[in-house]
Amino acid sequence: MNTKYIFVTGGVVSSLGKGIISSSLACLLKARGFRVTIQKFDPYINIDPGTLNPYEHGECYVTVDGHEADLDLGHYERFTNVRTTRANNITTGRIYQNVIDKERHGEYLGKTVQIIPHITDEIKRNIKLLGKTGNFDFVITEIGGTVGDIESLPFLEAVRQLRWELEADACCVHLTYVPYLGAAKELKTKPTQHSVKQLQQLGIQPDILVLRTEKDIPMEMRHKIARFCNVAPDAVVQSADAPSIYEVPIRMHRQHLDEILLRVCDVRNAAEPDMKAWNRFLERMTSAKEEVTIGLVGKYVELQDAYKSINEALFQAATYNDRRLNLVSIHSEKVTDGNVDELLAGMDGVIIAPGFGSRGIEGKFKALRWCRENDVPTFGICLGMQCMVIEFARNVLGLEGANSTEMDPATRYNVIDLMEEQKSITDKGGTMRLGAYDCTLRPGSRAAAAYGSEKVSERHRHRFEFNNDYRRRFEQAGMQCVGENPETHLVEVVEIPEKRWFIGTQYHPEYSSTVLSPNPIFIDFVKSAIIYHDEKKKA
Ligand code: GLN
Repeated sequence: MNTKYIFVTGGVVSSLGKGIISSSLACLLKARGFRVTIQKFDPYINIDPGTLNPYEHGECYVTVDGHEADLDLGHYERFTNVRTTRANNITTGRIYQNVIDKERHGEYLGKTVQIIPHITDEIKRNIKLLGKTGNFDFVITEIGGTVGDIESLPFLEAVRQLRWELEADACCVHLTYVPYLGAAKELKTKPTQHSVKQLQQLGIQPDILVLRTEKDIPMEMRHKIARFCNVAPDAVVQSADAPSIYEVPIRMHRQHLDEILLRVCDVRNAAEPDMKAWNRFLERMTSAKEEVTIGLVGKYVELQDAYKSINEALFQAATYNDRRLNLVSIHSEKVTDGNVDELLAGMDGVIIAPGFGSRGIEGKFKALRWCRENDVPTFGICLGMQCMVIEFARNVLGLEGANSTEMDPATRYNVIDLMEEQKSITDKGGTMRLGAYDCTLRPGSRAAAAYGSEKVSERHRHRFEFNNDYRRRFEQAGMQCVGENPETHLVEVVEIPEKRWFIGTQYHPEYSSTVLSPNPIFIDFVKSAIIYHDEKKKA
């Protein structure tokens, strides 16, 4: 079978959940036995989202090969269990950079370099890159932004050309919004009609429409949209708000979205999707009655997407522990000695979030001290782990003013310090220690028990690191460095074995947690939070 290219565009408004629809489609195709990958093309000019702050762009996701990527790639992995790479996320910035580099190398010698054909050809080349590996039956390409944006025009032009060249090997799925007007008590189809018209003006006829809605859209209304938009009546499906994003694949399948897509792409005799494991997850998710309460301490907790992968990894871990996750946001800037007890007393477990810079850092130390002294299951991730080390240095080792040189370059006790390899780096984009590295775990440690293995590989995104000069002092006082990189001996995991569960990881285990393959350390953390919860109840 030829590789099939599915294009997913969005209209009317942003934030419709193109990533979830793309992921759901991929999930269903994968369950039918196809080899699937999803890629995201983002129309902004940054080379990658690595330099964007969470207010602008939510979480920065990291691929195994060390690419700082759009958070939708996290959804892709969580829904498909297929690893993404640098090739799965392209921005306008990267397209232009490639074209300009080629121009400087003389590849267009004598020609005027233009958006069409040079930029669009570069976009097309990148769209087909993963397909050309021969590793995939389906390549789903999500085009970021909304139809009508100036910046997405070259991408849509590339889709138009490819659609024409690929014929039945391509399919266009367009997502729109059907608003409900409370005053008129009516759902409105006009924005969808306009959005499709806009797409048609650009020469793209969608094959399938997915209508985002808060209310059920009656069949006759879907047929009306089909008629106005030149789409087959059954190819207009609705995506109503779901209690969980993980229900979306099932809802799409019930409306035959995957079947219609196969029909458009002329794929016959496909197997029915095997969603047994997925459905088991959903059953556990819906039948869980008791709660587990986890506090997340960070400076971006008011942003829905800033800790996306942590939220999802925790949710998956709670589900596999048959608990409903009650995630409590705790703003690190607001934690004081006066209120820490009140803020944290109800928590069964506490996560100290990753991050950069000193804002909110003292609150993290206060929360950590409270958690350590009250022996609450505590999980520090990246900066959270570094804070664990600093708090321990200050309050157990008595190293007053101990810090990371990120926060205090002149600290007397640089228990967290810039990595050697980072010292000569001045450029900001893509220059951290990024991607998956091996970590050896000490036999008998809690971390090794959690993973059920003494060798793991997890993804990183940092410049600073535990200072090995202090290792002996920490270990003698009870904080053990139980995980390290086998080549560089960089400390990857610390834990206090005498506590219920007190572990910090320099890496980000949340990136690798998926619905069908949840991350073991999150599962173990939540398990210990549940045990602690039950102990508190008994006492
Ligand atoms: N700011 C810290 C560092 O660069 C931690 C980074 C993170 O939490 N991702 O090492």
